[in-house]
Amino acid sequence: MREIVVISGKGGTGKTTISAAFAYLAENKVICDLDVDAPDLHILLEPAIRERHDFISGHKAVIQQDVCVQCGQCANLCAFAAVQVKEGRHVVDELRCEGCGVCVALCPQKAIVFPDSHCGQWYVSDSRFGLMVHAQLFPGEENSGRLVSLLKTEARQRARAVGLGTILCDGSPGVGCPVISSLSGAGLAVGVVEPTPSGRHDFMRIADLCRHFRVPLAVIINKEDLNPAEAEAIAGLCAEQGHTLLGRLPFDPVVTTAMVCRKALTEFDNVVGNSLKDMWSALQALYPGK
Ligand code: SF4
Ligand code: SF4
Repeated sequence: MREIVVISGKGGTGKTTISAAFAYLAENKVICDLDVDAPDLHILLEPAIRERHDFISGHKAVIQQDVCVQCGQCANLCAFAAVQVKEGRHVVDELRCEGCGVCVALCPQKAIVFPDSHCGQWYVSDSRFGLMVHAQLFPGEENSGRLVSLLKTEARQRARAVGLGTILCDGSPGVGCPVISSLSGAGLAVGVVEPTPSGRHDFMRIADLCRHFRVPLAVIINKEDLNPAEAEAIAGLCAEQGHTLLGRLPFDPVVTTAMVCRKALTEFDNVVGNSLKDMWSALQALYPGK
């Protein structure tokens, strides 16, 4: 099974635009949107939801007021200041509760229950470009790394069940827990990088992460003409550190036009889309499907 994950050191670099462009070109694949905090690949791929599942992960403390004697022990013990006093009653702010369970274990009255936490939903869909696995974490919910891991497991199972050989993922932005989960089991990461000092810094962070997890990294420099000197610096770092420079894309308003029309850049004839087709071909040579 071939697993390709498109990542970036932060949001807004063009990661999803490039993922959609590759999703149009890839054959025999499952598409996976791993940006579970703020998914947007569905806007371009228009998935028809076939299955809808709840994502249950972790717990939240809830104080039973009929048992609580308002001693304040839980408020003193909670390291996250999640227990507050409102109108003379101790209550848990569910947005602050980290589900550590300390208050549950140490309440002298056993007044705190600890139900499962419903953190979001995940879906299996038929999209314009094929089978898609995606999700939406509820606002303020944690455990995005676990949800990413669940999506990848589901994508692998679905791919195996119907004989699809490639999983193409729009990874999570940043370098935190969900990105680490995104990279788990991947055979190739495609890093989308902007030519700015912060983009170069982000590139170095994702390169470190890929090196640590032994995932080869291929780089696309997006909007390279906005800062040719930085683009050169990033290209130099790729050469120095042994990462493949998959290609460079110019700044082009066609990207916005494609988005407004809800089209992938590779669906119609344009300079950026045609460059992405060349990059997809280069990627096939780098990491061939079976
Ligand atoms: S420790 Fe238990 S009894 Fe005391 S305030 Fe908290 S919930 Fe109520
Ligand atoms: S479960 Fe942990 S974080 Fe949540 S209220 Fe209790 S002590 Fe605080």
